Amino acid sequence: MRAELLSVGTELLLGEIVDTNAAYLAGRLALLGIDCLHMQTVGDNLGRAKEAFERALARSDLVVVTGGLGPTEDDLTREAIAAALGETPAVDPDLEKELRSWFAGRGLPMPERNRKQAWLIPSARALSNPNGTAPGWDVWKDGKRIVAMPGVPREMTPMWEDQVEPTLAQGSALRRRTLKLLGIGESAVEERLDELVRSTSPTVATYAKNDGVHVRIADKAPTAAEADARIARVEADVRARLGDYVWGTDGETLAGVIGRALLARGWVLAVAESLSMGDIARSLADASDAPQWFAGGLVRLGAHADALEREARALGGDVFLLTPAGTEESELRTITPQRTRQLTVKFRSPADGRRRALLGGLDLLRRALAD
Ligand code: ATP
Ligand code: MG
Repeated sequence: MRAELLSVGTELLLGEIVDTNAAYLAGRLALLGIDCLHMQTVGDNLGRAKEAFERALARSDLVVVTGGLGPTEDDLTREAIAAALGETPAVDPDLEKELRSWFAGRGLPMPERNRKQAWLIPSARALSNPNGTAPGWDVWKDGKRIVAMPGVPREMTPMWEDQVEPTLAQGSALRRRTLKLLGIGESAVEERLDELVRSTSPTVATYAKNDGVHVRIADKAPTAAEADARIARVEADVRARLGDYVWGTDGETLAGVIGRALLARGWVLAVAESLSMGDIARSLADASDAPQWFAGGLVRLGAHADALEREARALGGDVFLLTPAGTEESELRTITPQRTRQLTVKFRSPADGRRRALLGGLDLLRRALAD
């Protein structure tokens, strides 16, 4: 199957927004093993959008379009699809009822121009939009398929993942597993993975993320169990090479992993930050159970380890994490009832130091708790 992406919106052509939808969809198609061979971008212009659909349908089997499904004059995607296919849109009574009840549920009258969001053409069925008013369209005609979704990523991604992807899997299961690593750079990870990154079943890929390096293992098989078994074999291999750096998997967060380890020991944490400027406390406070294991944190600019330790102890707790100030390097410190561990971070600028102190500090802490 050849797929193609079409992004509709003048904002994109003016450089006012970045086309994250295309990047997201391209990634998802790749994961499904579907070849995406073209991407187009057009403004909110009926003639050019129609032309883009015609060009796409001439060379691709699946056209995935985002944007232009809103209620306003310049939202023209439905009109363009109808024109390219030579069909006439009409209000679908069921969709109109749903749309009216969406507005009624919010105590609002439905503006007349929203009615076009209840349109369908004969070849289209609606994709429901639980997060907004514009339903998507799933159009099948002459062996070709057009999937049209809203431009707003928060509305588009669940529509794609819940309603479209399951129909693209073609009787096979796509499974994936993500290992999350800290304390090692992406290129060093690739080096250790060596031939694994060239494997095609499962595929193994690395990504530099805010919380470290991710290694994603993905595979497609006739059944989920088969895909999982292949992924598990490769996961064991990856862990044999890099296990020491792995702090979590899939949806796990650093705050979640650290909180769980503290709770298991019945310990409470306090942090005193200079180099990381409060970023550690902020990221830990994201965990919903933080009040059970986090005594709190404070920020002191230009402070050294001993002063930070005194202040952290004054907050109470059993475990302390300190990020002392420094100009080119800093010795991060974590103190548990059993021992003190240190980690030296070197940095090029205050911003670099702050980021390294955040990740280095959390890594040091999770290692200290795993002892
Ligand atoms: P709405 O019903 O909100 O009008 P729509 O389907 O008409 O949705 P657009 O009007 O094209 O979508 O875009 C609405 C907003 O969605 C944009 O202002 C932008 O924030 C976001 N958006 C649209 N297209 C993209 C894209 N390709 N990548 C990232 N964000 C996008
Ligand atoms: Mg719009």
